[in-house]
Formats: sequence, structure tokens, C-alpha cells
Amino acid sequence: MNKEGSLSINSENIFPIIKKWLYSDHDIFFRELVSNGCDAVTKLKKLDMIGEYTIPEGKELCVKVTADAETKTITFTDNGIGMDANEIDQYINQIAFSGARDFLDKYKDKTNDDQIIGHFGLGFYSAFMVADRVTIDSLSYKEGAKAVHWESDEGTSFEMTDSAKTEIGTTITLYLNEDSYEFCNEYRAKEILDKYCSFMPIPIYFEAIKTAEEQARIDEAEKKAKEEEEKRKAEEAAKKAADGEAVEAETEAEPTEKAPEAPKPINETTPLWAKHPNECTDEEYKEFYHRVFHDYKEPLFWIHLNMDYPFNLKGILYFPKINTEYDSIEGTIKLYNNQVFVADNIKEVIPEFLMLLKGVIDCPDLPLNVSRSALQNDGFVKKISDYITKKVADRLTGMCKTKREDYEKFWDDINPFIKFGVLKDEKFAEKMNDYIIFKDLNGKYLTLPDILKENEEKHKNQVFYVTDEKEQSQYIEMFKKEGINAVLLKHNIDAPFITRLEQKNPDVKFVRIDSDLTDSFKEETSDEEKETLKKDSESLTALFHKALNNDKLTVKAEKLKDASMACVMTLSEEGRRMQEMMKMYGMSGMD
Ligand code: ADP
Ligand code: MG
Repeated sequence: MNKEGSLSINSENIFPIIKKWLYSDHDIFFRELVSNGCDAVTKLKKLDMIGEYTIPEGKELCVKVTADAETKTITFTDNGIGMDANEIDQYINQIAFSGARDFLDKYKDKTNDDQIIGHFGLGFYSAFMVADRVTIDSLSYKEGAKAVHWESDEGTSFEMTDSAKTEIGTTITLYLNEDSYEFCNEYRAKEILDKYCSFMPIPIYFEAIKTAEEQARIDEAEKKAKEEEEKRKAEEAAKKAADGEAVEAETEAEPTEKAPEAPKPINETTPLWAKHPNECTDEEYKEFYHRVFHDYKEPLFWIHLNMDYPFNLKGILYFPKINTEYDSIEGTIKLYNNQVFVADNIKEVIPEFLMLLKGVIDCPDLPLNVSRSALQNDGFVKKISDYITKKVADRLTGMCKTKREDYEKFWDDINPFIKFGVLKDEKFAEKMNDYIIFKDLNGKYLTLPDILKENEEKHKNQVFYVTDEKEQSQYIEMFKKEGINAVLLKHNIDAPFITRLEQKNPDVKFVRIDSDLTDSFKEETSDEEKETLKKDSESLTALFHKALNNDKLTVKAEKLKDASMACVMTLSEEGRRMQEMMKMYGMSGMD
């Protein structure tokens, strides 16, 4: 057989996607070629299931990737379904003719399609982003099939001949172009495989071949180490002999050839999220968390999403432990499509505030072959995003209702997240409104209505708060003495958050504990005293204006109940908020 031709192009709207790939992540070819191998294996398994083929007993179906730094090639070998000449013609030569789709159409009544990754017939061509020359050797599972060799130099014309391949399956070889040699480096290749293929559904093995030069260096070093060890032994023996000790007969057993360790696949074919929540233990959830997010701290708790209807979505969302004083909260949500990694933090699918969490979402139904902006306007994607938000809110409110103790215990860690969510997402806010709690000066947790009730008599509609317990300790003491309560609002998110609360509850006013000295701290004054205080205020103001060269200050003399307070500095709530805002926008304050 000998066939040549030019490749036909099947669809016009496919090139923007190729181009996009061409210009963005070049490493994506690993994902595409490995996932094609997985698909090929899955297809063969399905044929076995429906009785059209029998997989030989004891045969492990898998994908093997070899990165060869010496020859600058990468090969992808699978022992899946294989292709005959006609199929290569149809599936490979016709760009954008998706064999996956064809396969599904053909078998859609007999099997379910949820394991097949390829959808739009372009993956294979990503090989040409990094390789000048690509070859395929394939032997179809079909009885009497002849092995085929295909090769193409730039992806625009091809040649097909017979192949010497004897095992059913496909081997694809990429001869890397000079700009892409990095990809045959052992560590780089492994890193990319880990990124994209860690949870693919078929076992994947990885082998790296070093350059001859590198290998020679390693061999040389090993040889040297061995020689030195022998020299050391000989010297030791000579010394013992000289000391008159009996030289022990060489009893050391010949170093036994180590039994070759069974190579381990680089991936986990059934990731935790794909299991039913009832089948997963806390230990497994934690282990998965540490491994996938490289976070040695324990997660606080997690939500396992598992739904089949009206769309397919599985995943685990972890609430990380954060130290609000030091850590910036930065999560990662890894998005998968049928166990194939797509990307981190795709904001079109995952609500922004949820990206503060750490988690994985696998959604096979996602239309990932369309552009980002299309995703944004996609009603279906919006539904997914809303569903995730709803699940998270349900879990939180459920905990507050039935495990209030846990909720309070986690509150310090999760409150910035919840507040951010409330600010960012009206639907989430609606659900969470009644479950926002505030830690008071005694370490108790109160809701806004609780606080308002406490303050109803003397400080109607006021909520006092502390942002820094050390700095504001003097005021805290005063408040405690007077039996007035205040709540702690120490996170950056609290400023915009209370502004929102005030907008939603126009009567309510949040007042920082050092803002305006409330009347509770002032002693009743007679008319005469009032007159003195007024005079004192005027002379003090003049003095301060002169001393600080600032005529905007107000200084007030008041008679306080607590005589131990010689002087307290206060700044009105509005004034301080204004200053903070100016600081935020980089203007200098009016100090
Ligand atoms: P997609 O996977 O989206 O269909 P690809 O360009 O990745 O598109 O692959 C095109 C088609 O080529 C596949 O659908 C499949 O039929 C065939 N193919 C590619 N790689 C293999 C392989 N390793 N084994 C068998 N068939 C393959
Ligand atoms: Mg594919």
C-alpha cells in the first residue's frame, strides 16, 4: 500500500480554535495525545463489553509515554482500538472530522459516551505545534487488519505506507522542533503529564530516556562511586590484617539483582470525586487535599458535589484553613472534563468568590470547545455556576442550623469567604443573610438581630465594633465597664461588608468603638460646668491648632465618668471611613 495526498479541511470555524491553541499553551499536546490513547482503550473496552471483541485475559490496557532526550522525540503508545488505513484516512487525514463523534453516533444506543474525551477532532493536530514531523503506526483490532504507517511533515500533506507494528493499538511519534526540545526533558514532561493526566481514566506509564551524554555522566559517576567503595574496603581489610585481626572471609553475599519493581502508573484512574460520597472516608478526603493542593494544613471541611441530573457534575470543594492575619486567601478550583484537566480557576464556570476555596470540579457536559466569551453568555454554564453556589450556601446554612457549634468554630476562618460571597453574588447573599454571625467581646457569637436587641434601650440601631483589639484596648475597657457590647470585625473585607449591611438596613449604624464617645461615658453636667467645658474646649482647640499647625482639628472637653481617662482621642465614624477610603485610593489622608 502506498498513498499520498493533501489533507482536507472539513470545517471553517475550526481554525480559530487551532490558532488559539497554536498561540497559547503548547504543552497541551500531551493532554490531547494521551487522551486519544485513553479514548482508544475505552473504545476497545466497550467493544469487549458488547461482545464485538475479546480482550485477552490478563492484558492490561494502558497508555505509555516515552520522552527521549537523546533522539528528541516523544512517543505515545496505547494498546487500544487501533486504526486501519481507511480510518486514518477518515479520522486523521480529514482534519476536524471527529472520529469520536462518529464512534458515538455509531454506538450511541449500545454504550454510554461519558468516558470518551475527544469531541471535536482537532486534538491530534496539536502535535504540530511542537513537532516538525509526526508519525503514526497503528494496527486495528479488526480481524485481518493490516498495520499502517502514516507520516506528515508539516501537517499539511501526508504519506501512508505499511507498518511493521504487530501489537494492536497505536504509536504516535513526535519529532520535536528545535524550539520545543524542553518537552523531552524528563522533569518537564513529567510535570506536564501530572498537570493534565493525573486523573485520566486509563493507566498511564511514563518513561524518560536521557541524552547519551547525560547517561554517560551518570554511568561515570556510578563507576567512580563503586571504585571508591572497593578501595575503601580493601584499605579496611589491610588495616585489620596489620592489626592482627583475623580477616573475615568475604561473607557478603553477592548483591542480589533487585527484582524489577513493577512500574506504577502516574495517574489515578478513579479519582475521589468520581466515587460516591458514601464510599469516601475523611482520611481519603484529607489525603486527596494534601496531595492535590500541596497544602499541609488540614482543610476545615468539604463539600462533595455529585449530580447526574439535569447535568453531570462531580467535584469536591474544600474550605481551607486560613490565618486571616497573614495569609491572603487564594484558592484554586481545578476544572476537569471527564477526568481530563482543563484549567485552574475558569471564572466563567466557577463563581469568583468560590475561587477562594480549593477544589476540583469535573463537568463532562461543559462546552469547552467554544471560546471564553461564548462560555460567559452560555445559559448552561450559568446554570452550573448557580448550582455550585447553591450547594455551597446550602451546606453552610445547614451547618449553622444543625451544627451551630461547628459553624461557630469555623466562623473565624470562613467568614471572609462568606462575606466576599455575599458582596459578590446576590443569590448567595439571599441565602446567607440570616446566617451571618458576629463574635462579641466575650467570644460569643451573635446575629445582627441579637445585637440590635441588646442595644435596643440605650443605643438603638447601633452596632459597636472593634477592628484591632490591641490598639483599641483602652476603649474596650471602657465599654466593658459600662456593660456595652461590641463585636470584632478584623478583616479587610469587613469595611465593605458593613457598608453593605447599612445599605440593606438603612436604620442600622455601625460605629467603631473609638469613634464617637457615646453619651454613656459622659457625666451629667450642670449649666455652670457646661460653660467651663465650652471655654476649655475653645482654648484647647486653639492650642492644638497651633501645636500641630492644623486648623481642621476639633478638640472637645467633656466630663467623663471614668476619671482614669485623662484624655481619649476619637475620630468620627464618617471621618475615619473617608480617610480609609482615601488611603485605599492612594490619596493622602487629612491627618
Ligand atoms: P477527537 O479526539 O476530538 O476526536 P483528535 O484529533 O484528537 O480528535 O482525533 C481524531 C480521531 O482520530 C479520533 O476521534 C480517533 O478516531 C482517531 N484517533 C486519534 N488518536 C487515536 C489513537 N491513539 N487510537 C485510535 N484512534 C485514534
Ligand atoms: Mg482527541
